[in-house]
Amino acid sequence: MTQPLELLRELVDPDPCYFDHHGYCQAHGWMTVEPACPHARTKELLADSISVESREYEVVGDWGVDGADNEAHARRKVSEALAAYPHCGARAQTRLAYVWDDGSEYYGPWEELNGEGAQP
Ligand SMILES: [Zn+2]
Repeated sequence: MTQPLELLRELVDPDPCYFDHHGYCQAHGWMTVEPACPHARTKELLADSISVESREYEVVGDWGVDGADNEAHARRKVSEALAAYPHCGARAQTRLAYVWDDGSEYYGPWEELNGEGAQP
């Protein structure tokens, strides 16, 4: 099944918008400013959608840093570490990671993963 975003990629005009001094798009014959040319808005939407957002998790303790696959995994590792070594200071942290189609990446700051189901 075709996804809506795939369809939009094909529908959107690859030619750039050309805004005149009124802010109207001459390239697509769009004669209002608000809302702006739908091609411009669609491209914005598509630009947002090509970045893949994910979360990274890791467990930090006196021993160093350990990777974790997901939140549950990170929490379990913390519990296990604290059970085995009560004073190891194990804690889980998470950060947002964005990866774009062209391979560029952005990572947010590490945040403590506190308590059950804590949300940033
Ligand atoms: Zn346009």
